[in-house]
Amino acid sequence: MELARTPVSISNADLSEDRFSRFGLIDWWDQSKLRSAKILVVGAGAIGNEILKNLALLGIGHVIVIDLDSIEISNLSRSVLFRPSDVGRPKADVAAERTRDLYPECKVKAISGNVRHDLGLGVFRWADVILGALDNREARLWINRAAWKMNRPWIDGAIEGINGVARVFLPGKPPCYECTLGEVDWKILDRRMSCKLLTREEIQGGKTPTTPTTSSVIAGIQVQEAVKLLHGLPVLAGKGFVFEGMNHTSYVVEYTPHEECMSHEVYDHTTYWPKPSNKTTVAELHAFAQQELAATDVSLDFSRDVIQALKCPKCGLSRDIYACAGTVTVDEGKCSVDGEAMEVAAIHGFGGKETYGNRTVAGMGLPPYDVFVARSRDREMRILMDADRATVLAGLD
Ligand SMILES: [Zn+2]
Ligand SMILES: [Zn+2]
Repeated sequence: MELARTPVSISNADLSEDRFSRFGLIDWWDQSKLRSAKILVVGAGAIGNEILKNLALLGIGHVIVIDLDSIEISNLSRSVLFRPSDVGRPKADVAAERTRDLYPECKVKAISGNVRHDLGLGVFRWADVILGALDNREARLWINRAAWKMNRPWIDGAIEGINGVARVFLPGKPPCYECTLGEVDWKILDRRMSCKLLTREEIQGGKTPTTPTTSSVIAGIQVQEAVKLLHGLPVLAGKGFVFEGMNHTSYVVEYTPHEECMSHEVYDHTTYWPKPSNKTTVAELHAFAQQELAATDVSLDFSRDVIQALKCPKCGLSRDIYACAGTVTVDEGKCSVDGEAMEVAAIHGFGGKETYGNRTVAGMGLPPYDVFVARSRDREMRILMDADRATVLAGLD
């Protein structure tokens, strides 16, 4: 046993060398893989806090964290990165700051927004691994489809009370998250989106009972699986690690792939478009696709549904919207004249003749750094809005 140590002077270079020295004692560990890793963390609540803490301690080099909410007093009991003085500030901003405090060499970017409306598919493409720290099925389903399209693995975490589950989903290798959904899950999903693409407010206010102990167990497994993935080691692919806190039992569940699953689409070759979303019209992108595909029957698909307008069936009042489906609430969808529920006109793409062709991609309500799919009768292509990259990923390269 070593009781007395000789004091030594330590330079900054030695410090950064020393910081991760204990990891190097694990024979397969390669710190350079973690230093160069790019991780997208969706959610900065109870699980997200634990994930970010772990990523910082492990020396992960590049992180994007997205969250929609601001910090409330009730978050303080489950969020290691938040302080009482942070109440009212955006969760993503504070979580990013504290991650940087823990590991100043980590390049971390905060995005205050909703993963379904505000994150272009290019951000998923940027990430080596996506970590889900969410409390609702809508966002999980969206991440699942986006991660598959962009050919990226994602690791989901879910907790309730003192129980939880961590699952790993690899693109191109079903089962995926959507394959795991049962009848009850679909009923809940359908009920929430029942009103023709308008959002019922309660989606935002999910109040799942959670504790910091369970979130640290599940986030710990998620990040450990991410570390293994980054090293090319075997992971819980298509399986779930279930933790039951009451009896201290844990086990692995296997899921069955569903043949009719809608998520199993992986985008292959992607073409880069050189102008930013706010300077590119939809018609311009369509013309480019026609030229590339050498066809005139081209349709351009958006990455997500757009609400074009709301129309009142009673008085005929019409209001242009141009925003992603899910951003307009049921209350906002009521007629200002007679209070009648307005009808939603939704669009999914551009065929070449619609009047909104002269709108910019940003003016359609679509997020920057997104991906479009263009199809002719016998060919298709993907177009990445690559000129948005510098803005969206500023500070991460
Ligand atoms: Zn599936
Ligand atoms: Zn009306």
